[in-house]
Amino acid sequence: MALTKRQSEELAKQTFEYAPAPESTDFVKIEPSYNLFIGGKMVAAHSKKHFPTINPATEQKLSEVVEADEVDVDRAVKAADEAFDSWSRMAPSRRARYIFRISRILQERARELAVVETMDGGKPIKESRDVDIPLAAAHFFYYAGWADKLEWAFPNRKPRPLGVAGQVIPWNFPLLMLAWKIAPALAAGNTVVLKPAETTPLSALLFADICMQAELPPGVVNIVTGGGKTGSLVVTHPGVRKVAFTGSTEVGKLIQRSLAGTGKRLTLELGGKAANIVFDDAPLDAAVEGIVNGIYFNQGHVCCAGSRLLVQESIAEPLLEKLKLRLGTLRLGDPLDKNTDIGAINSKAQLEKIESLVESGIEEGAEIFQPECKLPERGYWFPPTLFTNVSQSYRIAREEIFGPVLSVLTFRTPAEAVEKANNTPYGLSAGVWTDKGSRILWMAERMRAGVVWANTFNRFDPTSPFGGYKESGFGREGGRHGLLPYLELV
Ligand code: NAD
Repeated sequence: MALTKRQSEELAKQTFEYAPAPESTDFVKIEPSYNLFIGGKMVAAHSKKHFPTINPATEQKLSEVVEADEVDVDRAVKAADEAFDSWSRMAPSRRARYIFRISRILQERARELAVVETMDGGKPIKESRDVDIPLAAAHFFYYAGWADKLEWAFPNRKPRPLGVAGQVIPWNFPLLMLAWKIAPALAAGNTVVLKPAETTPLSALLFADICMQAELPPGVVNIVTGGGKTGSLVVTHPGVRKVAFTGSTEVGKLIQRSLAGTGKRLTLELGGKAANIVFDDAPLDAAVEGIVNGIYFNQGHVCCAGSRLLVQESIAEPLLEKLKLRLGTLRLGDPLDKNTDIGAINSKAQLEKIESLVESGIEEGAEIFQPECKLPERGYWFPPTLFTNVSQSYRIAREEIFGPVLSVLTFRTPAEAVEKANNTPYGLSAGVWTDKGSRILWMAERMRAGVVWANTFNRFDPTSPFGGYKESGFGREGGRHGLLPYLELV
């Protein structure tokens, strides 16, 4: 029996007390300082510079990592280049065995990896435990299967690896982005130099340990830490044949310009401003869950987040009522607590960016809603936020906020929904909520987005290609398509 409006309000007002359920950190060993992973071992850096990596939920320093310089990056590329010959000529089924082994160790060490990911990045443990780490392992497992079947993947062609791949990743899904990059590169027979983001280097350094445990031949994977400067040294190094970058559109454009004319292969996975479109025949309670998952998952630090909710005018009122009630039940706080829904914002800089965009939304005339929510005193936090009365021209409707902030717009007809959804320079993903299969297909055909989810959102699978249109980048990661950027087809 459906609840009346009053009953739902009463229910939402009840406070559910949960006893704290923090995940233990006892079995995690974070070193006070890390070196670089080059040529199969951890080596002291030429650069004498280190910088701290902190826990954004407590502002406590977790460790120190190297800011790799030109000499360090050069050593890493040379190590990868030296390893390329034997790795690319190795029997593909043997190569596959190493990649399977990595996948298995990721599963075995899943708990340790999940805790480190949560401590370094601020995301709730239930997400790193149930999404990031299992998906990273699944990615290696999936691509291990392709390693000895490349000629079947591309019939009548001779697939050949390219050489050293230079890979730069962001901080929102550190280990998962590493897996998206390294797994297809290795399966295709390339070697790798990867640079993790400056605020979340620890899971990549743990991955270095996993490569050693898997006895991966030295130099096949190399990890160099550092900031944007180190990233630019990796992508512009003349020994790198293929560049894979995931990050902001701004940096993606810079990289594209710097590689012009070099003959290097490039794939870019950049920002997004996805529309999550709810039609009047959608199951509203399911749609509310999908909207919450679409924008508040990982504090909204998701390139394909459903940050623009397009709702059909006739159901806007009941849908928003349900959504606001649901926001009141989200639990914000200690990311290591297994009951936490919303963790810490990844860094002070990101928090400031979110605050300034939210400020602009208020100034431009949008109406803000935030549930009552006590923020911890230390660390970087932002409550789940929803804006109504939003016009398409407002910054909050156009720019990627990369935080737990939803802008709500309305539409009357499917054609208007299409026009508004596509009215963005980005094109990474979209969501459609409706009871009609024919409408899903009609909408999917018209969305200028790499992924269109139907009656769900933020679902990922290693077998499924992911990537953007327009300023969201080019090239695909995942699936058979994800092998192509790492191969020359003769
Ligand atoms: P960012 O572009 O600032 O940084 C990404 C990475 O690039 C970091 O490792 C950084 O150190 C490095 N970097 C910075 N300047 C560089 C330069 N000049 N040359 C080479 N490397 C450089 O982005 P961010 O703030 O870390 O990440 C958030 C962005 O990433 C968002 O815009 C988000 O949408 C995007 N993202 C996209 C996807 C996708 O698959 N499309 C996935 C995750 C994140």
